Amino acid sequence: MTIENEVSRRRFLEIGSATLATAGATGLLSKAAVAQSQESIAKGEHDQSASNPGPQNPTLANENKDSVTPPVTDHGNVQPFKYPFSVSHKRIEEGGWARQVTVQDLPIATTLAGVNMRLTAGGIRELHWHSAAEWAFMISGSARITAITPAGNSFVSDVKEGDLWNFPSGIPHSIQGLGPDGCEFLLVFDDGAFSEYDTTLLTDWVAHTPREVLSKNFGVPAAAFDKSPKQELYIFQGEVPGPLAEDRQAAEGTIGASPIRFDYHLRDQTPNKRTKSGEVRIVDSKNFPAATTIAAALVLVRPGGLREMHWHPNADEWMYFLKGKGRMTVFAASARARTMDFDAGDVGYVQKTFAHYIENTGDTNLEFLEIFRSSYYQDISLNNWLTHVPPELVQAHLRIDKATLDAIPKEEDVVVPA
Ligand code: MN
Ligand code: MN
Repeated sequence: MTIENEVSRRRFLEIGSATLATAGATGLLSKAAVAQSQESIAKGEHDQSASNPGPQNPTLANENKDSVTPPVTDHGNVQPFKYPFSVSHKRIEEGGWARQVTVQDLPIATTLAGVNMRLTAGGIRELHWHSAAEWAFMISGSARITAITPAGNSFVSDVKEGDLWNFPSGIPHSIQGLGPDGCEFLLVFDDGAFSEYDTTLLTDWVAHTPREVLSKNFGVPAAAFDKSPKQELYIFQGEVPGPLAEDRQAAEGTIGASPIRFDYHLRDQTPNKRTKSGEVRIVDSKNFPAATTIAAALVLVRPGGLREMHWHPNADEWMYFLKGKGRMTVFAASARARTMDFDAGDVGYVQKTFAHYIENTGDTNLEFLEIFRSSYYQDISLNNWLTHVPPELVQAHLRIDKATLDAIPKEEDVVVPA
C-alpha cells in the first residue's frame, strides 16, 4: 500500500468526528467556514490534489505520516518541534561517542540542550565542568560517576538504567562505563545554546599551562608532566574500575563524602499516578534536592493510551522518546495546530503554556521523558480545569450536555483512558 493510500484510508475513518470536534472549538473562523475548509481538505486527500509526482524520501515519509498528510484539524504555521538524534553528527572516539541537539539544530529549543552519549566498559568521559547544570538519565548499562562539592567532599556512585544524576553549574565531574558493556545515557543542560564540545576539560587546561606553573602549583618537578597529553582527551578508553567501596574510600581521604547525593533512582520510585493506560514518575528538587534547575517526568503510555490534553504554566518542555511510537499535537493558539510523529531516539519541544497531547500510535509501550528548566514540575490538565469551573459556563462554551460534562474525569489522570 502506498503512503498516500494508507493515509487517506485513515483520514476517511477520522474525518467525521474531527470535523465536529474542531468546529466548536475554533474561535476565529465561523463553524461554516471551518466545515467548508475541512471538507475541502478531505476531498483533496481523495483526488489528485494529494498526489506527489516529484521526488520523495520514502523512509522519512513513512516515519512522518502526519506531516505528509496532516490531520484535518492541523492548521497554520507552527514551528517544527522535533529533531531526531539519528541526524546529529556523531563524534566517535576510542572509548565511546557523543551527539547533541542544541538550539542550532532545533531553533525553538532555547531553554535546554541534550546530548546522547555512549561509553564502552572502561570508557571515560574525562574530568571536566561547565557553566550549565547537567541532568542525566541512564538509558542502558551502568556507569561510575564522580564529583566533588565546593567544600571538597567527594561523591562516587554507580548508576544503572533508569537512574539520574544532576551536577550543578561549575561542579567538576566524570563518567565511566562499567562492565560488561559500558552504558548509554542522555544528558540535558539548562541552556539551549550549551555545546558539549565546549566544556572545561582537565587535560585541555593542563596542556595550556606552562610546566613551571604546574610544578609550582602541584609542588612536584616539571618533568613529572612530560607524558601528559598535549591536547584534550574528551572521551578515551580506560580500565574498568575496581570495587565501588575502594574508589569511595580513596576519593574521600580525610575530608569525607558529600552530604548531598548527586544521583537518584527514578525508575525505582513509586509512580505519582498510575492508570490502566500508563503511569508517570515526577522528579524535581522536592524529591531530588541536587536538581535545583531541572525538573522531569518519566511517562509510560500503553498502546491506545493518550498523555492527556494539558500545558505547563512554568517552563518549556524538552522531550526525549525512549521507547515506542507516538505522535504529538501542539496547539499554538490562533487556529494554529501541528502534529508530528516520534520514534525512540527523537527529541521534542513544547513552548511554555502551549497546549498539547501525545498519542501512542504503536502496538508497544510508548515511554518518554518530559524535562523542564525549573526547580519544580507543574502542569495543568484540561479535564481538571473543565470540571472545576461552574458547569453551566463550560456547557455554554462547548455546547455539550450535562451528562457529557459529568463523564469527564474530575482530576488529572496524566495518561488516559483512566
Ligand atoms: Mn558534563
Ligand atoms: Mn507536556
